[in-house]
Amino acid sequence: MHKDRIWLSSPHMGGSEQEYIKEAFDANWIAPVGPHIEAFESQLEQYLVSGSVAALNSGTSAIHLGLILLGVGVGDRVICQSLTFAASVNPILYLGAAAVFIDSESETWNLCPIALEEAIVDQIKKNKKPKAIIAVHLYGVPYQVEAIRAIADRYGIPLLEDSAEALGSRYKGQACGSFGDVAVLSFNGNKIITTSGGGALVCGTKELKERAIFLATQAKENSPHYQHNEIGYNYRMSNICAAIGRGQMEVVDEHVGLRRKMHAFYVDLFKGIEGVTVFSVPNEDYFANYWLSTILVAANAEKGIDRDALRLAFEAANIESRPLWKPMHLQPVFEHFPYYGGQLAERLFEEGLCLPSGSNLTDEERDRIAVTVKAFFGQ
Ligand SMILES: *Cc1c(COP(=O)(O)O)cnc(C)c1O
Repeated sequence: MHKDRIWLSSPHMGGSEQEYIKEAFDANWIAPVGPHIEAFESQLEQYLVSGSVAALNSGTSAIHLGLILLGVGVGDRVICQSLTFAASVNPILYLGAAAVFIDSESETWNLCPIALEEAIVDQIKKNKKPKAIIAVHLYGVPYQVEAIRAIADRYGIPLLEDSAEALGSRYKGQACGSFGDVAVLSFNGNKIITTSGGGALVCGTKELKERAIFLATQAKENSPHYQHNEIGYNYRMSNICAAIGRGQMEVVDEHVGLRRKMHAFYVDLFKGIEGVTVFSVPNEDYFANYWLSTILVAANAEKGIDRDALRLAFEAANIESRPLWKPMHLQPVFEHFPYYGGQLAERLFEEGLCLPSGSNLTDEERDRIAVTVKAFFGQ
């Protein structure tokens, strides 16, 4: 087996991160306060063009605070697409609320507008009008922004945009992370940019951002003693992590370009291979960062071809690949919650595979991937 593993998505430093970290050490700002945090927030605000950004210690804590800002509490219902990472859903449960899961549609693999509206109408009939909708830009492909917004507005339900995978993606030229009533970014080690671990909540107003930071710093009232009138959290980003983020923002567009080159590489590689489709945006309104390149593999029993056989062939060559997210309505911890839609999310889970997609992959690594694929498909 080849000794060097090819990863799905690994950290890719730009070059100036360590200088910013050194600045933090020199000034002794080794804390969840400091000048890099505000500087990183304003870089993100400029990048997104609209919204006020609160830097936090993870995308998951950003979802938790986002739901609190949208008024979600004990006994409420929150709608979420089923095909996503568990972090989209867990914060619903932290709040004592219940999830309502929705199938994907085939163009973007995100929230199906038809099943979404069906769920809202049915839940209203049961006197359980959902308190919020969580829509995800899965693998960096924007959800159907206009259709989802129209439904949210029609029923007066606020939208939490989970843009954890979609920094750098756009819909009709507008940045993902600027479409929700609140939006969430993640800077985990495997995301499009990383702060080692971190996230952000994008708020519609400066006041809401201040409120998010207040809650993220233990809800300490402005007083000489420790005065607490409500429950707080320890969710603020560290100044050291923000230092890394500042360096990463200098290369974000370059890294998006390199991820898109990986996607183009797979489109070319699988062009002549029957039964494999590379997941791509439906039309030019959509601009994806292609955080992960993904394919669907149609099973062919005669030839011994299916998703898992391909995954094992990659594994034998020490190349990481993984099935798509397992839908939340099929997870033991969530399966008692209601689900609306058909079997698309389930089929995507059965046939889908995520491929090495990092912005730091080399020509030699692309060659190894191509050789493995061609050998597996007998070409
Ligand atoms: C990564 C991710 C999150 C969580 O972000 P963390 O920073 O890892 O907490 C949430 N939603 C989606 C869709 C993600 O991919």
